[in-house]
Amino acid sequence: MSNEIAATDLAQLNPPSVPGHATEAPKGNLGAIVNQHVDRACRAIHMPDEITAILAHPKNEIIVHFPVRMDDGSFRMFTGCRVQHNNILGPYKGGIRFHQDVTLDEVRGLASAMTWKSALHDIPFGGGKGGVQFDPTKHSLAEIERITRRFTHALAGSIGPEYDIPAPDVGTNAQVMNWLMDTYMNIVGALDKNAMRRVVTGKSIPCGGSLGREAATGQGVVHCLVEWARDRRFDLTGKTVAIQGFGNVGSFTAKILSKLGVSTVATGDYKGYIYNPEGLNPHKLAEHVKRTGSVVDYKHGRPITRDEFFAIECDILVPAALELEIGEKEAHAIKAKVIAEGANGPTYPEADAILNDRGITVIPDILANSGGVTVSYYEWLQNKRSERWEEEEVLGRLERAMKRTYAHVRDFAYERKLDFRTAAYAIGLERIQKAYADRGIWP
Ligand code: NAD
Repeated sequence: MSNEIAATDLAQLNPPSVPGHATEAPKGNLGAIVNQHVDRACRAIHMPDEITAILAHPKNEIIVHFPVRMDDGSFRMFTGCRVQHNNILGPYKGGIRFHQDVTLDEVRGLASAMTWKSALHDIPFGGGKGGVQFDPTKHSLAEIERITRRFTHALAGSIGPEYDIPAPDVGTNAQVMNWLMDTYMNIVGALDKNAMRRVVTGKSIPCGGSLGREAATGQGVVHCLVEWARDRRFDLTGKTVAIQGFGNVGSFTAKILSKLGVSTVATGDYKGYIYNPEGLNPHKLAEHVKRTGSVVDYKHGRPITRDEFFAIECDILVPAALELEIGEKEAHAIKAKVIAEGANGPTYPEADAILNDRGITVIPDILANSGGVTVSYYEWLQNKRSERWEEEEVLGRLERAMKRTYAHVRDFAYERKLDFRTAAYAIGLERIQKAYADRGIWP
């Protein structure tokens, strides 16, 4: 094994900024920012101090270092982590991210956001998140498979179908989840093997995945936008959307919105941004991204800068890339009437305040992108009961769940004069607080 390739320390590493694409300033600490949202919501519902203190820290943080053989025969060390934030309402639940900029602070923030998201929807799951720090675009499929299997092996004692259930996130997909499931199933004894299928969600259909899961997060974003538009008697037909990130969440949001007559006029990813005032065809664009890995060079879009993207004339903005992309500068530039947060944690608190003052509604991440965890829960239930639900059943349940939760957040926000984000966090926090109150704090 080569000595010069040491595993990096997730806790130490700060993500480098990508000139022209990511925010120019170094990104903030997502964990600390999520805690600010929690503090505000705790004050709004007069949360007892001892519960606030418990919820400010993750229960467990597991960091693993593991060697993987590369295609050329050499070995390289990788570092991954799993943060288990809270499990008072059910098993830890949350995605696994493969990205070169993954840090422990980021994963902490994402893990705690999962706790509030599950609680907001009254899904009997807690919150967790994990990641491995590497750039999957620089590795072959065979290397990604070996990285996934070694990471799963390293984590195997800390996850489980009734304990901690991973799912896809940035840089991972159904294929990665299948490898994770297969590795885990082969580690446990033969008798329990099939009961282990639900150790992970977001699998492909032949491996026990749920119909409707792939599009679920984008579908949930669209349900929220439809409810927002209905409340404001705002006809979505003929309106425009700008979408940052054209991966799973961004591309499905664009495709589903196009069925409602909303055209995607601008989008962008880690490589650059494009614009077409006549609208970009989301199906053809998704094929282009599949072929080339990015939206840039799509012949029906004109290249624009990141600053131009955020200042574009449009009715709706959907951040669906990474966290902490909308700062004060972007908040002043945005022309949209509503922002639906497909991504987790895309908005800085300072930007929230500016958007609020400007009368721009922000449908917060834990509400807008919760279609993914909702259908993950359905997948887990189907696996547990050895059932296979029709797609219409999955989508019907998702629609009812999203509309119910949206209405709850809206009413809570209006009644208590809160913004949507604080209301969404407060609803989740109240459910968790009631569980602590009824159970007590052991011993
Ligand atoms: P993905 O990997 O499929 O897509 C991510 C997209 O963001 C890609 O288009 C990528 O090029 C782009 N991107 C990466 N770095 C960027 C940068 N610096 N600037 C601009 N664009 C950049 O991931 P995804 O599953 O679509 O997840 C996107 C976001 O949605 C993440 O915040 C994730 O946590 C959140 N989310 C995903 C799900 C899900 O079911 N996949 C559920 C809830 C929340």
